[in-house]
Amino acid sequence: MRVEVRGVQSQSWRGLSPLLYVIVFSLLGLAFSVSTYLSSQHILLSEQSLVPKIQAEAVNSTWHEPLPLLPDIVITSIKPGISAPVVSHIPTNQPVVFLGIDDGWDHLPEAKEWFAATQLPISFFLTHDAVKGNQQYFRDLQSGGLNIQNHTVNHPHLPDLTRDQQKAEICGASNQFAADYGKQPTLFRPPYGQYNEDTYSVVAECGMKAIVTWMAYVEDGKMHYHKGVDKLNPGDIVLMHLKGSFMQDIQVFMDEANKQGLTVANLEDWLK
Ligand SMILES: [Zn+2]
Repeated sequence: MRVEVRGVQSQSWRGLSPLLYVIVFSLLGLAFSVSTYLSSQHILLSEQSLVPKIQAEAVNSTWHEPLPLLPDIVITSIKPGISAPVVSHIPTNQPVVFLGIDDGWDHLPEAKEWFAATQLPISFFLTHDAVKGNQQYFRDLQSGGLNIQNHTVNHPHLPDLTRDQQKAEICGASNQFAADYGKQPTLFRPPYGQYNEDTYSVVAECGMKAIVTWMAYVEDGKMHYHKGVDKLNPGDIVLMHLKGSFMQDIQVFMDEANKQGLTVANLEDWLK
C-alpha cells in the first residue's frame, strides 16, 4: 500500500509535471520578459532624462534658448526725427543684457561659427571701410540673427568734423549698409564713443533712433566697468570688438552674463 500510495503519489506528480513545467517556465519567461522590459524602459528613461539635462546645460552655456523676453520699456527718440538720444543702459526690469560689437576689421572663422551656433541677437556696429569687400561674412552673420548697425564710413573722431562731414560719414554708412544688407540701420554707435551737438540731429536725420554707447566693455579677456561698478546689471549695453581675442572675450562676457543671470536680448526691440 505504502508503495502503491507512493506510486500513486509519484504517478500523480509525474502526471502533473509537464503542466507544472509549462506553468513554471511560462511564469519564469514572463517574469524575465517583464524584468527585461522594465529594465530596458528604465535605461531608456534614464537616458531620456539625461539627454535633456545635458542639452539644457549646453543651452545655458551656449544660449541656444529662444528668448521669451519682450521689452518692458521701449526707449523712443526724445524728439523723433530731430534729435537722437544717447543710450548706454535700458532701465528694464527684465534679466537682459545687450551686446554691441564694433568695427568689423577682422573676419574670424571661429567667431562666425560661434555666432551661427548661438544665433544671439547681437548688434554689429560696422565701419564701412572695415567690411567692404567682405560683405558676405556679415551677410552670413545677419542670416544667423545678428543686426547690422552703423559705426560710420571710416571711423573718424566725430567732434573734429563739420556737420556736413558728420552727415557724409553717418548717412553714407546707412545708405551703403541698406544696399549691402537689405536693411536700413536703426542705431548708431559713434567711434571712440565721441560725439558733439551736431551728432544728435545728424543721427536722427540719417534715419536712426539712438546713439548707442556702453556701460561696460570687454578687452583682451577682461571685463571693464565704469568707476564704482564691478558687475553687469540688467539693461546694460556692452561693447566688444571682433578681433584676435574674440573667443576669449566672448567667453568672459558670457560667463559674467551667466553669473548675473542675464540673457542677451535684441537692442532693436528696446530702442524704437
Ligand atoms: Zn570703432
